[in-house]
Amino acid sequence: AISVIDLHKRFGQLKVLKGVSLDAHEGDVIAIIGGSGSGKSTFLRCINMLEHPCSGSVAIHGETVTMKSDGNGGQAPASRKQVEKLRARLGMVFQNFNLWQHKTVLQNVIEAPIHVLGTPRDEAIATAETLLRRVGLFEKRDIYPAFMSGGQQQRAAIARALAIQPLVMLFDEPTSALDPELVREVLSVIGDLAEEQRTMILVTHEMEFARNVASHVIFLHDGVIEEQGPPDAIFGAPKSERLKKFISSVH
Ligand code: ATP
Ligand code: MG
Repeated sequence: AISVIDLHKRFGQLKVLKGVSLDAHEGDVIAIIGGSGSGKSTFLRCINMLEHPCSGSVAIHGETVTMKSDGNGGQAPASRKQVEKLRARLGMVFQNFNLWQHKTVLQNVIEAPIHVLGTPRDEAIATAETLLRRVGLFEKRDIYPAFMSGGQQQRAAIARALAIQPLVMLFDEPTSALDPELVREVLSVIGDLAEEQRTMILVTHEMEFARNVASHVIFLHDGVIEEQGPPDAIFGAPKSERLKKFISSVH
């Protein structure tokens, strides 16, 4: 479903990604773990072109985003249309929910289907209501985000991301801004998506969750993949010293 090849990214002199590749096939759940500053968020932001990788490529559904020189030794997407198409195939969920505060939950969920995909309003509402039911928020559909808990807001953000029927869901630490008692309800929604064989790339600090739902785990350290493999190998029999240290530090 998605293929990322040899991404490099630097900010000025700081090299943040030094050749990171990833292949996710349909139904794969790829967990990305690693210490603070290892480049996890930057990697996700390059996948959806919120950051422009300095080199390397991103392809979704076999279509590579064409890059051109940005005149500064880096590269930028050659076509705005391609980026829009890429983003329409990616459902993104961030740490801080990023819901539109002046819109109700339902309005948040129908916004992209109506304005980006051109879905008729009635149809968008019907789909949104189904999604909100699935994440347990049907009763909250006319509420504004400020009146909901963090866990509810994050579930609404997941429903919103699903509303465009993405090929791949990207999650960047979806539970790390939540109070501990709210983490479980969000993980449970993400776990359901994994069970439905949705393709997902998930940056997380929830190691036990990653071990349970991931089909593949990538350990990033200092902008490179230090080790990767099936969750039982990564968590049960880590090879690299850095990974061993990381796992014992988060437990
Ligand atoms: P965390 O677990 O804390 O979220 P992370 O693995 O997601 O960390 P990134 O946010 O990708 O790490 O950041 C990697 C490095 O890149 C950090 O040193 C960060 O300061 C730097 N960085 C990220 N974004 C920018 C930017 N826009 N400009 C300059 N430096 C940046
Ligand atoms: Mg991050």
